[in-house]
Amino acid sequence: MEKTKKEGILLVISSPSGTGKTTICKKLLEYDKNVHLSVSVTTRKKRKNEVEGTDYFFRTKKQFLNLKSENSFIENAFVFENYYGTLKSEVLRRLEDGIDVLIDIDWQGTRQISKAMRGNLIKIFLLPPSINELKKRLSERNSDSIKEINFRMSRAIKEIKHYDEYDYVIVNNNLDNTFQKIVKILEAERLKLSKQLYLSDFVKKLSST
Ligand code: 5GP
Repeated sequence: MEKTKKEGILLVISSPSGTGKTTICKKLLEYDKNVHLSVSVTTRKKRKNEVEGTDYFFRTKKQFLNLKSENSFIENAFVFENYYGTLKSEVLRRLEDGIDVLIDIDWQGTRQISKAMRGNLIKIFLLPPSINELKKRLSERNSDSIKEINFRMSRAIKEIKHYDEYDYVIVNNNLDNTFQKIVKILEAERLKLSKQLYLSDFVKKLSST
């Protein structure tokens, strides 16, 4: 059946932590007001600079598992010893309303979402320029303990191995360049025939003159 309403694009960005993903996502949200961030639920402790409801919905394990049993998540995963999940309420209505939704999730969640939502999904993976650079960025963040940083390094190496499950892969040598590439990907996706539902009326008008 022909679609009559434009649906939003679901833009998934994954990367090992320390690859600049959070900065790039923030930049994209400021630059493009038709993109909205899906705020995830997590059981991890809030970091100093984080805000409830903006960075995450911080919940206890019990609250998280309740949400899960109520079927509130599109996807959820256990990442770095904590639970994380994407709420249906953050994503589905917006997509129906034609709003593009950005989600920053790991490869496990991306796999689940790929199964649940085909069609409107774009999956981007960011790679660090080198392991040394990744280590440097993780150490500079100061928001995690040495133990946590080492743990994240070992997880990063595992996460990187899933790059080939994504549609686009960008080596983040430079934040601005990477950001520009993501903007271009989004622009190209919006130009797809399936995303320009008004075109048939437009072309009818063009050909009736
Ligand atoms: P952080 O604790 O550093 O904010 O995030 C740790 C990892 O969890 C990152 O790789 C991030 O992409 C991932 N993550 C954040 N929210 C979600 C979510 O809702 N679902 C899944 N599967 N992963 C998430």
